[in-house]
Amino acid sequence: MDWRELSSCRGMDPELFFPIGASSSVAALDQIDEAKAVCHTCPVMPECLGWALNVAAVEGIWGGTTDAERRALRRRRARGDRAEASTSA
Ligand code: SF4
Repeated sequence: MDWRELSSCRGMDPELFFPIGASSSVAALDQIDEAKAVCHTCPVMPECLGWALNVAAVEGIWGGTTDAERRALRRRRARGDRAEASTSA
């Protein structure tokens, strides 16, 4: 079974997960909070986040994160990989 079939957002309006306008506007921040609240009830949040982290160009809220938060997670992961490689070499 595909993890998407178990998602809490299944059947919801996808627009909720793609905030429009400036990401710092009150409306966008409210929408992001609302989408993240759905994600935090989702039984497949880890799978969703893992997928979104591996798809660099994906926008919107996935796995309870914004695209900016995923970029930060990818940078941290890359730094961790480099540190691990330098200690094992
Ligand atoms: S974590 Fe959020 S975006 Fe991902 S499947 Fe679940 S509800 Fe949908």
